[in-house]
Amino acid sequence: MAVRNIRKEGDEVLRVKCKPVKEITDGVLRLIDDMFETMYEADGVGLAAPQIGIVKQIVVIDDRDGGEFALINPKIIKAEGEQESCEGCLSLPGYRGNVIRPEKVTVEATFPDGNEYTIEAEGFLAVIMCHEIDHLSGVLYKDKATVYERIPATEEGE
Ligand code: ZN
Repeated sequence: MAVRNIRKEGDEVLRVKCKPVKEITDGVLRLIDDMFETMYEADGVGLAAPQIGIVKQIVVIDDRDGGEFALINPKIIKAEGEQESCEGCLSLPGYRGNVIRPEKVTVEATFPDGNEYTIEAEGFLAVIMCHEIDHLSGVLYKDKATVYERIPATEEGE
């Protein structure tokens, strides 16, 4: 496993539409391991492949509340309700923003074991799913934010 370099805003790779994964090879599984390691090292709750320069439809998530997932070719097939979330992104360090997200989403994805699953997520986990899956279409949360601001220095690291 290896910690990869996280791409920051301004890097074109964050704006690319990612390609679906056709086959779960050893290389894909290694990539997923690296994505988890990179996410934990940066103390994030989610990471999408384009954030480390890979234009494949893969995201990893850990909401620190039992919701740990590696999702291949994830798709939101149903969204219900509304919530306002306060979000940050490892590719937009030092900033935060408010985004209106669904309260509940149903996501279809392939897991690293090769099987397809349907996951229902709500609350914070639904926010992370939406945020990470947006990355796969080249969308950043700031594009949708109602408020986008620099985190005041006094609050940084809290
Ligand atoms: Zn992000």
